[in-house]
Amino acid sequence: IDLGTTNSLVAVCDDRGPRILSGDAGPMLPSVVRYSADGATVEAVGDAARASAAMHPERTVASVKRLMGRALRDAEADRKYLSYELVSGEHDTARLKVGARIITPQEVSAVVLRTLKDRAEQALGVPVRRAVVTVPAYFDDAQRQATRDAARLAGLDVLRIINEPTAAALAYGVGLRAGKPQTIAVYDLGGGTFDVSILRVTPAEKAGETGYFEVVATAGDTHLGGDDIDQAIIALLMDEVRAKHGLALTFSGRVLQTLRDLAERAKVRLSAEDAAAIRVDLGEGRTVDRTITRAELEALMSPWIERTIDRCRQALRDAKMAPGDIDTVALVGGSTRIPLVRRRVGEFFGAAPYTALDPDQVVALGASVQGAVLAGTSRAALLFDVI
Ligand code: ADP
Ligand code: MG
Repeated sequence: IDLGTTNSLVAVCDDRGPRILSGDAGPMLPSVVRYSADGATVEAVGDAARASAAMHPERTVASVKRLMGRALRDAEADRKYLSYELVSGEHDTARLKVGARIITPQEVSAVVLRTLKDRAEQALGVPVRRAVVTVPAYFDDAQRQATRDAARLAGLDVLRIINEPTAAALAYGVGLRAGKPQTIAVYDLGGGTFDVSILRVTPAEKAGETGYFEVVATAGDTHLGGDDIDQAIIALLMDEVRAKHGLALTFSGRVLQTLRDLAERAKVRLSAEDAAAIRVDLGEGRTVDRTITRAELEALMSPWIERTIDRCRQALRDAKMAPGDIDTVALVGGSTRIPLVRRRVGEFFGAAPYTALDPDQVVALGASVQGAVLAGTSRAALLFDVI
């Protein structure tokens, strides 16, 4: 299971190899839970919860991964990115409040994990009790423990917690086939966060022996991702609307939700096409009718992409390496579909990045490979993840 900040996925690995188990709406489950107004019950999970987020901001819980295993004082900086109320639990742990109910981040993650467990059971026709769950390489012990606790609440026994970049490398089979140690850079640009990790893979000499993945360095930005690009598009549209219809214009939750959906859709379209049209009815005869070109979007997002490259420089510095020391670059996260991202990462490392696997799915696929190894279905050498 890839328990993501924005989206989560579940994969299985059996004699047919690793594959994603999709739900009705596709492979990705938005990591979003909507509670009833009093907080007592879960009303919607995934796409349905995400689709109504701007209408019910105070009871729609998104990005809860940011709060997992964290003290409220450490999560203060995240407060302005979250639409729901944060409160302090015992030992100053971060909790959220919906209506009268205080909810732990683990409980919210458990709702997402339970949905994926049900999905897997449906697809496989057998009960699923054990799982491998991925976490960012920079997660500390408390964050990892919180992830385990969430899985336990969902009725899953965590066989192992592995690092997301390690899972990506496993999905690509890096180090399993190569006979000598390799250095891999994993560039992960998701919805709300960016991470880059430098991994050293020491393969096992023979089957049955132990090889290992070592995270040599990790850098990133916990507030940098696809959401920033969506916001930049929304800001552009709003400025134009205000210029045309008056500065004091306010937007309803429904209009904001529409703008957010359209901005994201336009961004995704611009990864494949040169132009995307956005048309929104704001009511009272006011409309937005605007075509954004890929060149325009690239100019808008270029500062963010340069910030990710700066973080790559930092990770290499920490690892005491140069771009040329990297044998393989793997791209992870939905935002790495953006052509400008691929171009800049390729330029920086001086090597074409691995893109054969779907960047949304690579972490879950790798987790399933590790699961098969631990369950004894795969004959690949056992791998340890050194943190
Ligand atoms: P996370 O790991 O944080 O849960 P994901 O890896 O699922 O996130 O990435 C989600 C982000 O990827 C969203 O911002 C989404 O808009 C973006 N994204 C998905 N597909 C594309 C695409 N084709 N072009 C640009 N951005 C995309
Ligand atoms: Mg991710």
